[in-house]
Amino acid sequence: MSSANLPEIKFTNTQTQKKEVFKTQVPGVVRFYSCGPTVYDKIHIGNLRSALVADLIYRYLTHVGYDVQYVRNYTDVDDRIIKKAGDQKRTSDQVSSEFIQEVEKDYAVSGVLDPKFKPKATEYVSKMVAFIEGLVSKGSAYEVKGEVFYSVDTFEDYGKLSRQKFDDLEAGHRVEVKSQKKNPLDFSLWKPAKPGEPSWDSPWGKGRPGWHIECSVMAQEILGDQIDLHHGGEDLIFPHHENEIAQSEAATGKKPFARMWLHHAFLTLSKEKMSKSLGNVFTARDFLTKFGGEVARYLLLSVHYRSRLDFSVDSLNQTLQSLERIYEAKKKALEITQLKTRFPDTRAESLWASFVMQVDGASKDIAAHFAYDLNTPGALASVFVVIREFNRILSEPKTQGTPAAILASQALIRLIEEDVGSVLGIGRLLPEKALEQFNGIRSQLSASDKVKLDGSEIEKRIAERNQARRDKDFKRSDEIRDELLAEGVDLLDGPSGTSWKYR
Ligand code: AMP
Ligand code: ZN
Repeated sequence: MSSANLPEIKFTNTQTQKKEVFKTQVPGVVRFYSCGPTVYDKIHIGNLRSALVADLIYRYLTHVGYDVQYVRNYTDVDDRIIKKAGDQKRTSDQVSSEFIQEVEKDYAVSGVLDPKFKPKATEYVSKMVAFIEGLVSKGSAYEVKGEVFYSVDTFEDYGKLSRQKFDDLEAGHRVEVKSQKKNPLDFSLWKPAKPGEPSWDSPWGKGRPGWHIECSVMAQEILGDQIDLHHGGEDLIFPHHENEIAQSEAATGKKPFARMWLHHAFLTLSKEKMSKSLGNVFTARDFLTKFGGEVARYLLLSVHYRSRLDFSVDSLNQTLQSLERIYEAKKKALEITQLKTRFPDTRAESLWASFVMQVDGASKDIAAHFAYDLNTPGALASVFVVIREFNRILSEPKTQGTPAAILASQALIRLIEEDVGSVLGIGRLLPEKALEQFNGIRSQLSASDKVKLDGSEIEKRIAERNQARRDKDFKRSDEIRDELLAEGVDLLDGPSGTSWKYR
């Protein structure tokens, strides 16, 4: 497709908080960078939301005709990787390679398309050293005892992405923070090596790169000094992406580093921010094994990417219901295309003719929804209106087995598989198989639902148990643990308190 046929697309640019028309430097080509996972453990379903939103962006831009130069990195040098390697007496490389393989398995099951580029930070360390040298020579960075810091005071736009003014914060911090930094907001570009850690040679001695510098360097090396689109979770706006802008714009002297910044909102679990340290994490692997990739995609993509998404049994039930409606309609439509045609019926032909017009209209609406900041719920709502009408016509006498019924069914299948399916990556399975799978999930859900206490009830019992322990009533505290265990809840006692997880 020539770039002249590309639709007008609007995205919400984090930097302005406004919906802006998306324009690329080179017509028809998108240079797209998405911050990928830190590979020290299996990913959780929040991380999967990140991969799926990036996949949605990639699929959508490709669908409308862009050539998408898509980079999603692996952060494979990090404190958590080093710690795990130390604990397990392995190298950091062994740990990160293991989890790259694991995460790729989850991506494959979720239908996440492979980006064109999947760089690992460790492959770019010499480029990072050169990049940091450039910043030092420009006066944007300084060394203190083998550590190199970026000097935020030298970058006048610092805070433009997260839209913050830092003066007050700095002043407060300066008083209390005894640091080798000139400004408490200065961040590490290069860290001196500690014994036993992976390290590389540099003009400042042996060390390793900081996190933020990775993405600036990999983006520049693969995509160039300026990119069109940058994506990550809302947690990355500050400081990670603010720091990427500061580094890249100072190094190249070109603004903007990224024309458009897209951030997806967090996935929460029972209203609590999910994080690995809370112990209430649902790994992507657990989720995918139980519910499969189609359910994961629908659940995580049917909510707008900028809306918080609370994962609950209710959201799963709704997902199943919606997928069942789609696949039941597809099944019926496929059956109709196989029916022997009989003589046309005037009334049926006219009903189907107006249905086909409705499908055409929905197809345009869906395209408009996606073009308007990837409005996935809007696009899905348009499909459901059409499905309802399809079912209504089918409930009327003599509407099946006519030539127009076949054309109409084909139009509906295209709408499901192409207009929505190819962008969301759903609706493309064989209906019988998909419906059978959803049935299986339903029976599992209703069984496990019965034993699941809700989070606030569990927290209440943990508080009761803590009180019993403070009162040295260990019999009662053990009883509470056993009661929870019987209800399918494991307690994990740690230095910072007790966390829990469903077994
Ligand atoms: P990390 O491995 O923590 O660097 O995260 C990889 C990607 O997942 C980043 O884009 C994060 O912003 C995103 N992410 C982490 N936790 C969540 C969450 N709970 N919900 C949505 N995205 C998340
Ligand atoms: Zn990044």
